[in-house]
Amino acid sequence: MAKRDYYDVLGVSKGASADEIKKGYRKKAKELHPDRNSDNPNAEAQFKEANEAYDVLKDADKKAAYDRFGHAAFEGGMGGGGGRPGGGFGGGQGDFGSAFSDVFDDLFGDFMGGQRGGGGRQRASRGSDLRYNLRVSLEDAYAGMQKTINVPTSVSCDACNGTGAEGGSEPTTCPTCSGMGKVRAQQGFFTVERTCPTCSGLGQIIKDPCKVCSGAGRVEKDRALSVNIPAGVETGTRIRLAGEGEAGMRGGPSGDLYIFIDVADHKLFERDGTNLFCRVPVSMGTAALGGSIEVPTIDGGRGRVQIPAGSQSGRQMRLRNKGMPALRGGGAGDMFIELAVETPVNLTARQKELLREFEELSEENNPESSSFFSSVKSFWDSMKG
Ligand SMILES: [Zn+2]
Ligand SMILES: [Zn+2]
Repeated sequence: MAKRDYYDVLGVSKGASADEIKKGYRKKAKELHPDRNSDNPNAEAQFKEANEAYDVLKDADKKAAYDRFGHAAFEGGMGGGGGRPGGGFGGGQGDFGSAFSDVFDDLFGDFMGGQRGGGGRQRASRGSDLRYNLRVSLEDAYAGMQKTINVPTSVSCDACNGTGAEGGSEPTTCPTCSGMGKVRAQQGFFTVERTCPTCSGLGQIIKDPCKVCSGAGRVEKDRALSVNIPAGVETGTRIRLAGEGEAGMRGGPSGDLYIFIDVADHKLFERDGTNLFCRVPVSMGTAALGGSIEVPTIDGGRGRVQIPAGSQSGRQMRLRNKGMPALRGGGAGDMFIELAVETPVNLTARQKELLREFEELSEENNPESSSFFSSVKSFWDSMKG
């Protein structure tokens, strides 16, 4: 018996939208519902036919298969009667029953005066959010930048038009399950159904798999996205790109893409919020006599810092507004120069001689040492007592 075209069954055109298909189905289902057609012997069969058509056309995957292969997409020997279409497609989501509960929820909702359009709408699911870790230099975090990142996504394989079969040849119906995707086995008194081992439930096998995608029908492809990294980002800053995540299922919205920023350590600068710290070694002579030193700034420029005579290690000097910009506006931080007085090494005999002479003249020149040793002395004195 030749099967009727599913679109004809629902009284909609081939290009009908999901909404139109649903409307067409609801209309037919009401007309043909067995409870209302006790005097029409064909109604039950037609009702089943409408359910079958809707079961296929409401499901994006099955619809695509039907559009491509017609009834052949679901044809198979088992079960008989053709009451259960599409066991093969849909990736093993327990198709049996789900279509019917959908149908009946819908119908009973209507017949019992339930709200229109209440049910069956949550099937579209949102795509997953994706995370992308992006490491940036401190200089880039300072200046902000436009960065192109490559996000891997699955796209339909061009070489085989997504069929997975080499050279545009069409996949063939699985001989084990005759396209149903499921096989039945007898276990004691029960007949159990399980996923077809030959085609893994797809209902089709590919004799000559596409060399590009190895028969998957999809390939990983990098999608180039231009991302604006604002000035002032820190490690842990997240940048959300709405809708750039994984594609949704069945027309659901796409997920979001989150860029997680990780700012690399810098050789010269250490960051604390918007402030920067730069440790600058100075010679003992400069620290004692005072002088001017040149220091780097994060924008790649130079700054001059006056070292007061008699500066100690750890002394900080501030360069205003030479720190990092605040991410959400509000001006820049400061840069702090921290002096590290360096003790000279590898002295020549002449230098040693000069330093010894210097030491002999330096009784009064180390107030910190003097005060420390007087504290030590009184500590020992007190312990004696
Ligand atoms: Zn199979
Ligand atoms: Zn391919």
